[in-house]
Amino acid sequence: MIRHVAIIGAGFSGTLQAINLLRHDGPRATLIERAAAPAEGLAYGAAHPQHLLNVRAAGMSAFPDDPDHFVRWLAAHGVADAATAFAPRLTYGAYLRELLGEAQARSGDRLKVVQGEVVDLVREHEGVALSLADGGHIAADAAVLAVGNLPPHDPVGLDPADLGPPLYFGNPWDPRLTAGLSRDDTVLIVGTGLTMVDVALALEASGFAGQIVALSRRGLLPRRHAGGSAEWDRLDERPSVAASALVAELRARAEAIGWRQAVDELRPFTQSLWRNASDAERRRFIRHLRPWWDVHRHRLAPPVADKIDAMLASGQLQPVAGKTIAFRRVEDGVELTWRRRGSDTPETMRVARVINCTGPLGDLARAEEPLLRRLVERGMIRPDAQHLGIDVDSEARTIAADGASNDDLYALGPMTRGAFWEIVAVPDIRVQTWTLARRLSNAHWVGGEGL
Ligand SMILES: Cc1cc2nc3c(=O)[nH]c(=O)nc-3n(C[C@H](O)[C@H](O)[C@H](O)COP(=O)(O)OP(=O)(O)OC[C@H]3O[C@@H](n4cnc5c(N)ncnc54)[C@H](O)[C@@H]3O)c2cc1C
Repeated sequence: MIRHVAIIGAGFSGTLQAINLLRHDGPRATLIERAAAPAEGLAYGAAHPQHLLNVRAAGMSAFPDDPDHFVRWLAAHGVADAATAFAPRLTYGAYLRELLGEAQARSGDRLKVVQGEVVDLVREHEGVALSLADGGHIAADAAVLAVGNLPPHDPVGLDPADLGPPLYFGNPWDPRLTAGLSRDDTVLIVGTGLTMVDVALALEASGFAGQIVALSRRGLLPRRHAGGSAEWDRLDERPSVAASALVAELRARAEAIGWRQAVDELRPFTQSLWRNASDAERRRFIRHLRPWWDVHRHRLAPPVADKIDAMLASGQLQPVAGKTIAFRRVEDGVELTWRRRGSDTPETMRVARVINCTGPLGDLARAEEPLLRRLVERGMIRPDAQHLGIDVDSEARTIAADGASNDDLYALGPMTRGAFWEIVAVPDIRVQTWTLARRLSNAHWVGGEGL
């Protein structure tokens, strides 16, 4: 019998897990967050005011059984055209903080929020025992890992022991990122995805007028959302599963209805397409299609895309396709040796600063986080087959090294990508966290949405 759940991490996933346990009259919860401010997580806390959500407000309700919740909240806070707005990420952080505050206020002693880092978890007395970095202990009947993404790898050829701030920022959310640059400087961003866009906007907003070179294997930039609302005719049937056939179908649909709708109409089926794909198909998708999928699927809010277009048009932002080979500290900065895509000839460029925007790492085998490292060493959790994160079953139970599902240890959010693939954004995570809370509350056997 689960009476007490310890939730590790209070970003969107963990915070909503705690709130949904309360909503479903489930077990009491202890929500543990190492950062000073719970609820915001990596995405919605330290954002710059210019950073907008990349999903329209109509898709960002925290609750799948109340899809207009965030739109109503925005409207109540005076936002016009709330449904089609791409709200600032800081505003979304305020929304989540308010939800958590309300839940705490009405929870009595059923929800406790603790600040601290969980560094270990063992089985003890028919439950789990968590150790905190400050020496504290928490006992519970089950635990939920809601730890978010792992930090990115350093780029190939870069030794962080040799290069550190201000020459190299391995963490693209470092508050010192834009400081101390002059207008003649060139900044190299490794990566051309959404994190690169965040960093380019932050540099521009800080007054940086020098050149920004953004380098990735293919040099692909995220596409933009269309303006207005996002209405489309939904597909009735799940499309064919083989990646090759899917690409052909997607192209044909894009011709017929436009690429945005062709990508968006797959959304309700992506998790089941992934679940039914073989390991070989998943591997092929990750190797060949993922970069294309990512830039079409995870799009920019129009005002953000306008700013990036202006930076491209002025030449301030220059995307290039290639691979890094070596980074060397030189007198006035860093010298990069790299190879342009399609060329065998190494080239060099000198830059004042290198910023790592290669995106999150999910490979547990390379994780340095004490908690995850210990759980892997002890065989309580294992990497999924594609090394995208933590292996879980369809009910979000983690899977041990011997292949058995753990009834007392669950995982939520982007680290469960290996099982669900489409599980990095709010519209998907809110369903996952709601479903698990209902199961832990024994509420899953009564009617679904709209309790
Ligand atoms: C910059 C950025 C912008 C995004 N924008 C959008 C968007 O506009 N729309 C959208 O739908 N999705 C967006 N996303 C996707 C995002 O992944 C999800 O929306 C969601 O925020 C993921 O939340 P999470 O709780 O799983 O992870 P996180 O937000 O990373 O939270 C994990 C939390 O766990 C804590 N933690 C980790 N380990 C421990 C430990 N051992 N002990 C205690 N605490 C621990 C961390 O400190 C952190 O606060 C964005 C993501 C990023 C990174």
